Parts: sequence; C-alpha cells; structure tokens
Amino acid sequence: PYDLEIHDLCFSYPNTGAYVLDHANLMVRQGEKLGIIGPSGAGKSSLISLLFNFWPVQGGSIVFGGVNVSATDAETLSSLISVASQDFHLFTATLRDNLLLAAPQASEADMNEALRIVQLTSFVVALPEGLDTLVGNEGLRLSGGQARRLSIAQALLRRTPWLVLDEPTEGLDDATEQALMKALLAACPRTTILCISHRKSVLPFMDRVVRLEGGRLWPEGEKT
Ligand code: ADP
Ligand code: ADP
Repeated sequence: PYDLEIHDLCFSYPNTGAYVLDHANLMVRQGEKLGIIGPSGAGKSSLISLLFNFWPVQGGSIVFGGVNVSATDAETLSSLISVASQDFHLFTATLRDNLLLAAPQASEADMNEALRIVQLTSFVVALPEGLDTLVGNEGLRLSGGQARRLSIAQALLRRTPWLVLDEPTEGLDDATEQALMKALLAACPRTTILCISHRKSVLPFMDRVVRLEGGRLWPEGEKT
C-alpha cells in the first residue's frame, strides 16, 4: 500500500539558515483523509514539495509506498500523487482542454462528473453552446476560486492513489465549500487525501488533523 512515513525530517532551503522542518514525524495510511493546519509560513507548502523530492533534505526520510522518495523518480511520484494548488496556471483556452491536458484519457462523462464535484457545472452550462470558456488573447478567464476548483477537477481526473489539496475552498462561500467537500469525499472513498486548510469548516471532513508548527507536526484531533 502507498502509506507515507515521515521520520525525523529536517529541512531548510538552500542558503537559508532556519529549519522549516525540524525532526518532523508523520505516518499516513493509504485511504486516510488528513487535514494539515498551521500558521502561514509554517512550511505546509514546503512539506508538499518534499513529497515530490523537490529539494534535498538535511536529515530524516520520507518513505512512500515502502520506498524513499529520494530514490524515486519524478514521473513515478507524479503518477501516484496529484496536487491541486493555489499556484495554479491555466494552459489553454477551454475548461475541457485544461482537463484533458491533466488527464488525456478522461472521457466526456468523467469530465462532466469532475466539474459537477467541484461545483463548476453551472458555470459551464451558463456559457453559450460549444463555448465552455471566455476566450480572449489571454485564454481562459476564471476567478481565483474557479481556477482553484478547476485544478481540483484536474487532480481528480488523474485518479492517483494520493490527492493533495492546498486550500481547496479558499474564496468560496460556506454553502459551496460544504457541497464541494461532500461531493469530493463521496467521489474518493479510497483515495488518500492530504488537505491543507486554515478553514475550520473543512476539517470535519477529515479523519484526522495535524498542525505544522515550529518545524514539527502535532496531533490536533481525531474523529472518534
Ligand atoms: P506555508 O505553506 O505553511 O505558508 P511555506 O512552506 O510556504 O509555508 O514556507 C515555509 C518557510 O520557508 C517560510 O519561511 C518561507 O518564507 C520559506 N520559503 C518558502 N519557499 C522558499 C524558497 N523557495 N526559498 C527559500 N525560502 C522559502
Ligand atoms: P520532544 O520530546 O519530541 O522533543 P517537545 O518537548 O518539543 O517534544 O514537546 C512535548 C509536547 O509538547 C509535544 O508532544 C506537544 O504535544 C507539545 N508541544 C510542544 N511544542 C508545541 C507546539 N509548538 N505546538 C503544539 N504542541 C506543542
């Protein structure tokens, strides 16, 4: 199984002194839904980059599916973990093109389902026939919240065993947030989900919550 085991992880960015992670430990079993909270700048995004072996670590290990990520190639890691993040870029002109870029094998039905889960269906339907986008020279135009939801749809369509959500409901109203989280969890019963969020209303959807603070991960709460 693709369990994640982080042991005594120590990390600082090259040419900076302070440790972002300082003997951090975390164990996540495949299928778990884990919330990650912590103050801004605590290292949540850095932790995600480290899952992809993006930076060398100074100590400890990240073991994913029994293999150290430092010994795993980028292609393998990205076939196992999808990230929906706020640093999202749109590449092409239409919603569907963007979905196909992330998941070339996705069927029309899969794409519609993913758009439904992220509450973008009404947006698509509201647009003129055959034009699921507002095309201009700068391509697809979406609000920050819409772009974030499109990135979640892309990640869903990749059907990886792990899904990382970086502030998935930022900028959404409460009703849309609750609908999105409910549909997302219903669609991914077996997917492991790491969800970074500062919104307390997202956390009840998680099995367990940890707080990243002072370079370590602290247990914050568990569903009983
Ligand atoms: P969070 O996601 O919890 O807000 P980050 O992981 O973005 O925190 O940042 C953790 C710390 O690492 C911050 O002090 C931030 O300034 C620093 N940091 C983030 N990215 C880089 C980078 N590429 N180079 C150097 N320092 C960085
Ligand atoms: P260790 O024995 O691993 O060095 P510490 O002495 O740093 O642990 O902390 C002991 C306990 O105090 C931790 O298990 C944690 O529950 C609590 N604690 C310490 N620092 C923090 C923090 N920044 N946030 C939350 N809890 C903390």
